[in-house]
Amino acid sequence: MGKKVLVLAEARDGQLRNVSFEAIAAGKKVASDGEVIGVLIGDSVGSLANEMIQYGADRVLTVEDAKLAQYTSDGYSQAFMAVVEQEQPEGIVFGHTALGKDLSPKIAAKIESGLISDATSVEEEGGEVVFTRPIYSGKAFEKITVKEGIVFATVRPNNIEPLEKDESRSGDVSNVSVSITDLRTVIQDVVRKAADGVDLSEAKVIIAGGRGVKSEEGFQPLKELAEVLGGAVGASRGACDADYCDYSLQIGQTGKVVTPDLYIACGISGAIQHLAGMSNSKVIVAINKDPEANIFNVADYGIVGDLFEIVPMLTEEFKKMKA
Ligand code: FAD
Repeated sequence: MGKKVLVLAEARDGQLRNVSFEAIAAGKKVASDGEVIGVLIGDSVGSLANEMIQYGADRVLTVEDAKLAQYTSDGYSQAFMAVVEQEQPEGIVFGHTALGKDLSPKIAAKIESGLISDATSVEEEGGEVVFTRPIYSGKAFEKITVKEGIVFATVRPNNIEPLEKDESRSGDVSNVSVSITDLRTVIQDVVRKAADGVDLSEAKVIIAGGRGVKSEEGFQPLKELAEVLGGAVGASRGACDADYCDYSLQIGQTGKVVTPDLYIACGISGAIQHLAGMSNSKVIVAINKDPEANIFNVADYGIVGDLFEIVPMLTEEFKKMKA
């Protein structure tokens, strides 16, 4: 039987983030022949509703208030709970983003449901919806089905294929009115450290540097390669701890978890805590001076050599291919 599923969208700089479309595709699987309702929360977000419908939402509910211009747990949970109370959903899907990771446990506690966090796939198997999620820092995967109650999941960015955009689709867009009160956090200002370039968690290509880059300037050739490939720069904790780059770039168990199409690890040894954040990347290329480095055990392609010679050579070759 079909389910009514709420999918929370996320926007940045006035644009829907890709993970919103991936969450809609996951929501469709949970809904089966039921209904997928996109939820947009913010200050003035109504203009984004149509795109959600074009990516598969059947209708969209907006919750708009100046107090929701920036994310706060209190504000968003009040807004989302108003939608839950109005719609009484049987399924909920969020992106497994910083926002989704913060908000989902709070909502799950309020509605007394379980939570399947960080799902990397959602499939229909034998009439049941089966979620797959990594466990033990990505060394194994578990499969979960929900037998009763609300199906609530967060989906890891870059893992679930969005539905094809269909500009001919139409659907109802309506507002849920909520009075946002008692905010315990007020955002005064947003300071972005990694303002330029592609968002690491949604990047299709990541060039990551480790302690082997040796200095802040050592990241420059990696930035140039990232620019040519339209990718983002990431780092190991070794590089962050050594102050070669900002912690916002850290990938791994205590950093960001990424799943790009291409991950190029430069001067990274491949500690288990680093692998936890990137080993599900589709294609992994490792550049390391040490042929015994552990990173080669997860790499699809390995280059033994000095990154300061190899990375600029790759940049030049890719530039030629693009010319
Ligand atoms: P190193 O291990 O020092 O490796 C540097 C590599 O560069 C070496 O393999 C070397 O051969 C190579 N190299 C040097 N010069 C060159 C050159 N010119 N060209 C090519 N190769 C060169 N780490 C993370 O990354 N992410 C995490 O989220 C994380 N969380 C952690 C959580 C906990 C609780 C703990 C205990 C540790 C965590 N760590 C994490 C740290 C992790 O254990 C490693 O210490 C760290 O990943 C090592 O970083 P690295 O590979 O850059 O440095």
